[in-house]
Amino acid sequence: MSEIKLLDLARTHARYRAQIDAAIARVIDHGRFIIGPEVAELEAALSSFSGAPHTVCCANGTDALMLALMAIDIRPGDEVITSAFSFAAAAEVIALLGAIPVFVDVDPESFNIAPREVEAALTTKTRAIIPVGLFGQPAEMDSINQIAEQANAVVIEDAAQSFGASYRGRRSGALSALATTSFFPAKPLGCLGDGGAVFCSDRDVAQRIARLRLHGQSERFVHSEVGVNSRLDTLQAAVLLVKLPHYAHEIEARQRAAQRYDAMLSKLALATPKVANDRSSIWAQYCVRLQDRDRVQTVLQERGVQSAVYYPLPLHRQPAWQHVAVQAACPNADRLAAQLLALPFGADITAAEQQRVADALSAALTPR
Ligand SMILES: *Cc1c(COP(=O)(O)O)cnc(C)c1O
Repeated sequence: MSEIKLLDLARTHARYRAQIDAAIARVIDHGRFIIGPEVAELEAALSSFSGAPHTVCCANGTDALMLALMAIDIRPGDEVITSAFSFAAAAEVIALLGAIPVFVDVDPESFNIAPREVEAALTTKTRAIIPVGLFGQPAEMDSINQIAEQANAVVIEDAAQSFGASYRGRRSGALSALATTSFFPAKPLGCLGDGGAVFCSDRDVAQRIARLRLHGQSERFVHSEVGVNSRLDTLQAAVLLVKLPHYAHEIEARQRAAQRYDAMLSKLALATPKVANDRSSIWAQYCVRLQDRDRVQTVLQERGVQSAVYYPLPLHRQPAWQHVAVQAACPNADRLAAQLLALPFGADITAAEQQRVADALSAALTPR
């Protein structure tokens, strides 16, 4: 029997292959590889999909976070509150700008930052809050927006894993003043390399982000402020324009696959992920909680089932920003880092493959 992959991108791309090839050929023909017409077209399409008034595409999801922080003038010594349990990008760019990452613990059910923890971490130096929609489910955005407003801080939703998920009738990406996403190939909406975007409610801020990604140029060769080079390739925009019209449908396929896992795994000695009633997940990952994670992962591997650990070392324990970060205990993040295991997943996973995963898990969890 063949191995069940964590993510089978080839299968997804096979479905759009002819359209992708044609889109790439069009870009080669027109030759405008940098900020070509497809980039603006994609920005408009992403705004209409998400409901975010303005979209500025950039080179990757990490730069998107950095551009958002630059656009609100984050300065050395400013504090930015973010999740202790996530991919490193937000923590990294906060530290890179000389600001102080303030890590708060997550809720053990949703894996997202808990509003009361955010509130407890506020100081007079708090300038921004970066909640993450981990594994595809948006955080408690309304409460976090409210807390931020009282503290005069800006909310930047890191929607790299949740872009497009629904939350009280709106979509992740359009839930706060600023939001970011990533088009890294393995993300729910991925391109064929690196890519990212910033979403924004304010037109002036959006225009500033558009300048910052182009070396801070206000016009050609006039640099009005220090920026970066963070453009989205026209080729990647062209690929995303092929995929975006199918994205809502792919999200539904992911949700059906998650429901199948929920049913198949309900009798096993593990905890399946929970989604709050007022929102949906787009299931960037399907992660289960296990008491004996590392042993179970070995059994799955022996049975030809790939799996992965997101994330083995929480951000408050990472060496890179130990010297700057505000230290606090994050026991839930520590526990999740020891217990979570991501199962094979994707819009194209079949029920038969999922059953094989469930059977392997069942074998691993049955006492011998
Ligand atoms: C992937 C990811 C990023 C960074 O995106 P890149 O495009 O790889 O730079 C940021 N935040 C989260 C939560 C991510 O999963």
